[in-house]
Amino acid sequence: MHRAHDYRFLIQRWRAVARAAGVPLRRLVRTEHHDLFYLQTKALGATGGIYISAGIHGDEPAATEGLITWAEKNARRLHTLPLLLLPCLNPWGLANNIRLNEDGLDLNRLFHRDDQPVVGAVRRLVAPHQFAAALMLHEDYDGQGLYLYEVARAQPPWGEALLAAARRHLPIDPRPRIDGRKAVGGIHRRRIDRKRFARMGYPEAIWFHLEHARRSLTIESPSEFALERRVAAHVAVIGECVRRVLKDAA
Ligand SMILES: [Zn+2]
Repeated sequence: MHRAHDYRFLIQRWRAVARAAGVPLRRLVRTEHHDLFYLQTKALGATGGIYISAGIHGDEPAATEGLITWAEKNARRLHTLPLLLLPCLNPWGLANNIRLNEDGLDLNRLFHRDDQPVVGAVRRLVAPHQFAAALMLHEDYDGQGLYLYEVARAQPPWGEALLAAARRHLPIDPRPRIDGRKAVGGIHRRRIDRKRFARMGYPEAIWFHLEHARRSLTIESPSEFALERRVAAHVAVIGECVRRVLKDAA
């Protein structure tokens, strides 16, 4: 299997980034099989800044690989950026190339709950924060190009610009319906149907939108394309999102 599924190697790289950046890599939580980590900069205050997470689904390796690659490229200035980074929320899934965690749970349907150790730890970690943006990195086996979900309390939307930033790496998903819902130019803008989420469980992005972020963006790269192109697309989207958060704060 590709090294992108090697969690130990991934964390080695995060340790190197943290050292180079002068920002501590802290333990989020210890599960039966793995330690999970986060990286939070001093530049992050209670309001503003950006939350980025990857690897909540273990079979989406360009997400975790994209985040570490972006961090490596930006290690020197990392401490100046208002960031909370979650490198991998489902290490067991990543190591086994499986969407679910070791208990067969989809963590991305549990964000309304405190009793799952990883989700509970994320909820406690972000409790004091109102982020300018939350960015969730994902992949989709059915994807025919890059697409995203955007829910925001702020205008104008960022979705188009984020996709455009990655366009030289991947096409935009042309499908008029994605995941059973209408999409325009690779962008879903869904109204929040609380009844639906109460039934299916709350995804990370929806919970952040409701509780902790002015903008909540979920980027989905198509798993069938080459890994390098998918990683490059995630790096480009992260870069554009961080640039916009900084510009809005200035
Ligand atoms: Zn996913």
